[in-house]
Amino acid sequence: IDSRLPRVGTTIFTVMSALAQQHGAVNLGQGFPDFEGDPALLDAVTAAMRAGHNQYPPMAGVPALREAIAAKIEALYGRCFDPGEEITVTAGATQALLTTILALVHPGDEVIVLDPCYDSYEPNIVLAGATAVHVPLTPGSFRPDFARIAAALTPRTRAIIVNTPHNPSATVWRPEDMQQLAELLRPTRVLVIADEVYEHMVFDGQPHQSIARWPALAERGVIVSSFGKTYHVTGWKVGYVAAPAALMAEFRKVHQFNVFTVNTPMQHALAAYMADPAPYLGLPAFYQAKRDLFRQGLAGSRLRLLPSEGSYFQCVDYAAVSDLPEEAFCRWLTEQVGVAAIPLAAFYADGTEQRLARFCFAKRDDTLLRALERLAAL
Ligand code: PMP
Ligand code: GLN
Repeated sequence: IDSRLPRVGTTIFTVMSALAQQHGAVNLGQGFPDFEGDPALLDAVTAAMRAGHNQYPPMAGVPALREAIAAKIEALYGRCFDPGEEITVTAGATQALLTTILALVHPGDEVIVLDPCYDSYEPNIVLAGATAVHVPLTPGSFRPDFARIAAALTPRTRAIIVNTPHNPSATVWRPEDMQQLAELLRPTRVLVIADEVYEHMVFDGQPHQSIARWPALAERGVIVSSFGKTYHVTGWKVGYVAAPAALMAEFRKVHQFNVFTVNTPMQHALAAYMADPAPYLGLPAFYQAKRDLFRQGLAGSRLRLLPSEGSYFQCVDYAAVSDLPEEAFCRWLTEQVGVAAIPLAAFYADGTEQRLARFCFAKRDDTLLRALERLAAL
């Protein structure tokens, strides 16, 4: 078969979760919580079904949910999006990203991605007939290198994908990063695709730098977020896109023939649940406590901890433990030590090897302690 995606295999997340299951390992690989969402949210789904919300909702999403999303963005980041024309509910961030790229990127265009990056970006760009231009984040710190980004801009550059808080490095962008990006793009027509799925997981009192805070970026930007991360329901696959009306009109042209719309009862449940900001406002403290538990548990080990400023990931340098390449190390760790992790190399187009592995700490404390018992012996 003449493949559209010849270089793509099964994602590393699926591979490592299967290996963890096969070996009874504690799965700190694929990013998902091992605890349930709030019972009030779960009950709201049943209530929505019983109330008869079981047929197609409007194409762009249930109006009450779009209104709740717009209100949240305005309250947190100070930008007003019109729920009628500038917000669309999606089947998770994955569909939001693919639909954005198919709608706005043309064959022959270039899209800048900052490596390491989430594994769906490049295949999405390839499916749009465009080219991913890989620019590395600064080795070691994973901070954006604006000189390199500037050097990658060409007349064919259509968009740049930015992701903060960042999967996999757990860094977050600072105000000066946003300013520099805005400055760099000012003379261009380059779009910003902002993957903000971890927007509510930023630690140590830092604010999340949504592009919604920065008018020069928001005017040329598409914001992607995901309720799966925020409300501990990754399996629901509900997210959203916020963008200026002209960009959103193009997004919806593709969205209506991609999924048309997203399941009704969960949208109603999320709309009702979003009325209370406490769950997402409490998320930084909730995950910071897990981060700190995990970091303290590894402090005496030979795994060197990288900073974790946001997201629910913790990266470690394992060079003092093993000189296996990253995927081999993660397989060994899963099979022999009983803890699954994700190799950072999986997030690089060229498979860059640094002896780094990513753990997900979105787990019950007893799960983290079980993993730590095994890791501490390394
Ligand atoms: N972007 C990033 C950076 C992610 O980590 C994830 C989830 N792994 C997604 C997008 C996809 O989110 P969703 O599960 O809502 O499709
Ligand atoms: N985003 C999750 C992660 O980075 C995994 C999602 C998936 O399995 N595709 O671990």
